[in-house]
Amino acid sequence: MFLCLKQVSLLMKGAYVLLLSAEENAKVKVGSLGEIKLAKGHYAYVGSALGRGLNLEKRVQRHKRLAETKAGCLRWHIDYLLASPSFRWREAILIESSEPLECAVSRRLEALAEAVIPKFGSSDCKNACRGHLHYLGTRPLREIRDILENLRLNLRHAAVKHP
Ligand SMILES: [Zn+2]
Repeated sequence: MFLCLKQVSLLMKGAYVLLLSAEENAKVKVGSLGEIKLAKGHYAYVGSALGRGLNLEKRVQRHKRLAETKAGCLRWHIDYLLASPSFRWREAILIESSEPLECAVSRRLEALAEAVIPKFGSSDCKNACRGHLHYLGTRPLREIRDILENLRLNLRHAAVKHP
């Protein structure tokens, strides 16, 4: 049996960063966290799809569909933001890896961010992150994307060096 390119990409695992923006100051009910206040501006959320049967592209597509339709099942903290009319989907950056990189990526974003949203998206985090959602204020998305692209290259390089 031949494995076509599409099938290969469907096996992709790794971490992802969703860039979103709040068009206005918002209050959003986020599952177990209750109602949280989120200021107008850009946000970056880090998640991962690593487990058996999980797929990075499918997970991100699911998030994007929720952001576009504002309708669907709300399962993770990020889903509440995606479904909120105050939030707009900007872009997703995929970091392909079989290693758990989400916390390393999240720490990098935290260093750039104006604030971290405590406990957001980090319920099952094993690295004591303060949260996996970062508020980036008015920092240009293009700049954030460039930083993440560099990080992705560095992480890939590190993975090759230390298999
Ligand atoms: Zn973490």
